[in-house]
Amino acid sequence: MRVYNLAGRLTLGVGAEAAVDVETASEGRFTADPQAVYARWDDFLAWARAYRGPATHVVDEALLLAPVPQPAQVFAIGLNYREHAAEAGLALPDRPVVFTKFPASVTGPHGHIERPPGSVDFEAELVAVIGRRADRVAAADAWDHIAGFTAGQDLSERELQFAGSAPQQFNLGKSYRGFAPIGPALVTLDEFADPGDLELGCEVNGRRMQQARTADMIFSIPQLVEYLSAVLPLLPGDLIFTGTPSGIGWARQPRQLLEVGDELVTWIETIGRMRHRFVAAQR
Ligand code: ZN
Repeated sequence: MRVYNLAGRLTLGVGAEAAVDVETASEGRFTADPQAVYARWDDFLAWARAYRGPATHVVDEALLLAPVPQPAQVFAIGLNYREHAAEAGLALPDRPVVFTKFPASVTGPHGHIERPPGSVDFEAELVAVIGRRADRVAAADAWDHIAGFTAGQDLSERELQFAGSAPQQFNLGKSYRGFAPIGPALVTLDEFADPGDLELGCEVNGRRMQQARTADMIFSIPQLVEYLSAVLPLLPGDLIFTGTPSGIGWARQPRQLLEVGDELVTWIETIGRMRHRFVAAQR
């Protein structure tokens, strides 16, 4: 099942590129608010799986917004792929490296993103979306708490990320306006042959920069849910950015960072692709 935010309205995929407006098709049982559905995810799944009506909309890429536009919490994991830890010159972590991208940095899968001054880098990532409150959940039960996946970019301004005396705080450098694009759809786990092994990557101006499989993660998504939910509850509609593979611009020789005018395309198999262009930031 594919769930979209089409021009601000909750939309259910029906067939390849067709869809229905959920509020209309459900006769008001569910509102049009794409964020509100996660608090009623089980009800929604039951309705959506039984829906047999016709498609009423075409999924116009240009109208797609973030499938989870206002998450209460956004968790992000650093150094979660072995080759990425190596390119960063760091030892493999013995527990997840956790930071946040503040929720107001979330944006949609297409369009322009302001490039602030500094060293702006790309990080293609699989993003897990919480569908059921997860409080002290064991890894063995964790998949039951995931609504599905979307693609994400953990955009990062490296100078602010690493500024100041140790220990540096990543959060602000990863939370500029538009620095957490997600999309193009929320895709439920039953759509994947193996939700633990997906190909993902990104290109800058048509040049392949990252390409890897999520099976190479150090801490699996179930392990991350167990680790995080031991500390605090994960809420319906929360996001977990699960880490980026190797190939980031900051670790390249010479460095290859995002400049004004660059186009960044990010994809994950089965989920789809996002396309963004960087524009000068307002002063
Ligand atoms: Zn990241």
